[in-house]
Amino acid sequence: MRNTRATQLLTELSREGRYNPLLPDCDVPQPPLEELLPREAIAAELLPLPEVAEPDLVRHYTNLSTLNMSVDTHFYPLGSCTMKYNPKRNERLAGLDGFAAVHPYQPEETIQGLLELLYELQEMLAEISGLHAVSLQPAAGAQGELTALLVAAAYFQERGEHRTKVLAPDSAHGTNPASAHMAGFRTVTVKSTPEGLVDRDDLRRHLDDEAAVFMVTNPNTLGLFETEIREIAEEVHGTGGLIYLDGANMNAILGISRPGDFGADMMHFNPHKTFSGPHGGGGPGAGPIAVTRDLAPFLPTPVVAREGDVFRLDEDRPRSIGRVRGFFGNVGVLVRAYCYIRTHGPEGLREVSENAVLNANYLLHRLKEFLPVPQGDCCMHEFVATAKDCKAERGITAMDIAKRLLDYGFHAPTVYFPPIVREAIMVEPTETESRETLDAFAEAIGKIVQEDPELLHAAPHSTPVTRPDDVRAARQPVMRAVAAGENGHEG
Ligand SMILES: *Cc1c(COP(=O)(O)O)cnc(C)c1O
Repeated sequence: MRNTRATQLLTELSREGRYNPLLPDCDVPQPPLEELLPREAIAAELLPLPEVAEPDLVRHYTNLSTLNMSVDTHFYPLGSCTMKYNPKRNERLAGLDGFAAVHPYQPEETIQGLLELLYELQEMLAEISGLHAVSLQPAAGAQGELTALLVAAAYFQERGEHRTKVLAPDSAHGTNPASAHMAGFRTVTVKSTPEGLVDRDDLRRHLDDEAAVFMVTNPNTLGLFETEIREIAEEVHGTGGLIYLDGANMNAILGISRPGDFGADMMHFNPHKTFSGPHGGGGPGAGPIAVTRDLAPFLPTPVVAREGDVFRLDEDRPRSIGRVRGFFGNVGVLVRAYCYIRTHGPEGLREVSENAVLNANYLLHRLKEFLPVPQGDCCMHEFVATAKDCKAERGITAMDIAKRLLDYGFHAPTVYFPPIVREAIMVEPTETESRETLDAFAEAIGKIVQEDPELLHAAPHSTPVTRPDDVRAARQPVMRAVAAGENGHEG
């Protein structure tokens, strides 16, 4: 059944006078506004705000909140995004006044507890990464990439080396080349082998005294661990380059292997992925980076420093690249990550990864009954299936399957990424799903690939908006709510 709740805007629900704040009469003198505020701060007339009774308002937002899928409502196997369950305990703790109500300009002596927490988080991330120093400042994984590349650029500049290239595999996330470009480098794409790993011969061809950084995702976006990562790192280091580890897939290796140990010089974390922060529609992310001792002086200011029992924001770092973000960073996300790490502890984090890998392999083997998985003997925390045969034989595309899954009550997996797999369907179940959920998902795919292609091309059928024209939806978004039964994007 199509979900048609909350299809009107608040302004359409508004009725004049239907607004009752239910406050008692004021029993102290009420000076006129003009005595309280400068004249230019007072609006000439009242704003045309909607007038809606509280029950209607609550229903409006509650119904709106059910129109989208989320990890709290549905299985959300969005490959590369690690949409694991967000423990509510972490939300409660991050909402405590001592975290949520502090002001960015508050004196340091009044936020010692928060600074201590952030300091400990720096230490824990350094430990997990096997690297020396951490900056919590970047606001997302992508900004972590950019920040680390700026750090690398400052490092080479100080050494008087003119290195202009950043290398990244053809399976890399689009943010890798984008960050390289923004940091002033030229991106060179390194091929993958048919097995889906870095083609070392191709990498070697690009390694010279112009190559600054090799950006590698490990495990990579096909869910495969680069088994020769140490040899790769040795080769890159041998020509004077640095290794950047895209840490989006840390959920596969927590407490099992450390990027610093396999040769990474710098990396980012996605706490909103690996450490269970809500993301997507659920809130902002963060992108802390970790770097080696040699690169540490270039990290953004401030970092949290400790002197005896006192914690402070250290701004006095003459070789720093400077700030990359206003104030300190997305502290709320960092607090959630801290809670998550402390809740699990070292053994618990390792179990997280073991179970993430177990779940992915279980689902891989169930799904292989219905869709081929080209690099599919076993995987780390995610795998990439293909609808290439479905498309050739019955005209059913990866997009059709993804859209139809919504009707079955599952958020779609990532599709058409990584670009090296045709009709890619990239599935990451995470460790927080039960076997029953994984079975139900596999069975839904099994049914979908047997369905009438015409039905699939028009899917989803149960959502308020069915299949938008992706291009038109992006170029001419219809921001108005859609009346029940009609569909603003169709046709
Ligand atoms: C998510 C992701 C990024 C970017 O991280 P954001 O936090 O979304 O900016 C980079 N690389 C990979 C492989 C990712 O999955």
